[in-house]
Formats: sequence, structure tokens, C-alpha cells
Amino acid sequence: MKIIKPRLVTDELKLLRFLHSRMEFPVDDLRRFENLEKGFKGEQIFDKWSEDILIDGLILNDLLFEVNNTVFQIDSTLISQGTLFQFEVKNFEGDYYLEGDKWLTLSGSTIRNPLHQLERSEILLKQLLQNNGYNMHIESYLLFINPNFHLYHAPINQSIIFPTQLSRFLDKLNRTPSKLNGKHSKLAETLVSKQTFQSPYKRLPNYEYNQLEKGICCPYCRVFMDDTLKCKCGFEEAPSAAILRGIEEFRWLFPDRRITTNGVYEWCGGMVSRKTIWKVLSSNFQLEGHGQSAHYVKIN
Ligand SMILES: [Zn+2]
Repeated sequence: MKIIKPRLVTDELKLLRFLHSRMEFPVDDLRRFENLEKGFKGEQIFDKWSEDILIDGLILNDLLFEVNNTVFQIDSTLISQGTLFQFEVKNFEGDYYLEGDKWLTLSGSTIRNPLHQLERSEILLKQLLQNNGYNMHIESYLLFINPNFHLYHAPINQSIIFPTQLSRFLDKLNRTPSKLNGKHSKLAETLVSKQTFQSPYKRLPNYEYNQLEKGICCPYCRVFMDDTLKCKCGFEEAPSAAILRGIEEFRWLFPDRRITTNGVYEWCGGMVSRKTIWKVLSSNFQLEGHGQSAHYVKIN
């Protein structure tokens, strides 16, 4: 199989990571952030697992569509010769149980029925394909990737793949006869081009420049590095690289604010000299305006 669209950290998760190092999140935002991180970890485990899909197939990750005014996202899609597989990946951990159609945690809180979610996106995906002249057979699966997940009263449902079934499911996938041609590549292209875009800024907690902690964060553990640009985890960074990362974070969090030497100095918590910042800005950005209004813009 070939990966046509690799999985990246979503813009929203990226922004949340930047923010989380620099401010306290309200409880709801914190829960959402943790859920997104957990979901992303699960997807990475899925990606590792899917490397063993050996058939002639095309993989597209994280597709976001809008059909009938409904936005839906598909964690992973596998195009084979005769079937389009839709995979919804869940990184649930611990014990869950079913009460009729309801999914509950052992502590009694209800979660959104993932099977309904799966069915809904299959219907919408089918429609999207038809709207674009494709009449492809779709198979949808809900994959529970975490070995510490258990579902009491689990129904016998071919769409659900539990952790203990993952390797047999892989064998089954690998027995799918598949020989792709140009039509399949065209389908992959169509799916990528028919995606919708959602602003990653919409669901962030409220934040303001003054309220955020300043400094340069380690890209791995997301805690602030010390004045020598070293992190507790052992990561060390050259000033120029640290400054560039700091500017990148600043540009993501404040796309409307101007980039100046003094601004970057403050944003980096005074950990690097103005002179070094000026050098980095001069060689990587373009200076616009004069005097008071002078600022740097990214060279494209
Ligand atoms: Zn670190």
C-alpha cells in the first residue's frame, strides 16, 4: 500500500499544544485537549499497524468533508480495487458497557455512540462519492486500538474490531484481492480535493498576548527551556533554531500581530540576545516599513 495523504498533527492540536505550555486551561478546554492528544496517539498506533497492510492500496488519512451541511472527518481511508475501507480509530481505555444503544463508562457517563458516528459518515461518504460520479462499495470499521479497552455486553458486530482482533483483521485485509489502476488514483485525488476547511482558531480557549507566559518551549516535552536553551529531557538547541521555533509559535498564535526584534525578544522571554534575534530575522524574513512601523514578514 501507498500513503497518499500522511497524518500530521492538526492545526488545532498544534495551537492547543502551544497554548497549553503558556497558560492554564479552563476544565472543559483541558479535557478537550487531552482527548485530542489521546485520539492522536491512537491514530499513530493505527498508522504503525497499517504499515503491515500489504495489498495494492492507497491510504488517505484525516479527510474532512462537508456533505448536506454536515461536516465529518474520517480517520483513515483505504482504497482497494473494489472496496473503499473507512476506518474510525478509537483509543478508549478502561471498561465500558452497553445499555441498549447507549455506550457508558463504568462510572456511568454516557459517550457518543461510535457506531452511529460510523454509520453516519458512511452514508455521507457514499453520497459524496455518488455526487462525484463514483459508485464504490464502502466497508466501515470501528477499530479499538488500545489493549486496555474492554466493552461489556459487546454486540456481535462485524464493524467493530477489538484490540484482540486486530491481527486477524489485518490478515483478512491482506487477503483482499486488489490491483489498482489510474481510476483509483483519480479517486484518491478527488477525495483530497473535495475536502473542506475549518478554522483551527474557532474552538480554542480565549487567550490574550499579555496573559501568556513568555519563553522558549522544548518541542518534545513542551516545558520551558532554561537560559542556556537546554531542557530537562536532555534536548539542547542552537539559539537561531530556538528563535525560529519561537517565531513560528508566535505567528500561529497571533497571525495578525507584527513581528519585530523587540517583540520576538519579549516573546522568547529574554532568553536570547536582541542581536541574535535581529540576525535571524534579517536572514529569514523580509523587512517592511520604516522606523516605528518596521516589521518582518515571512519570505515565501
Ligand atoms: Zn524537553
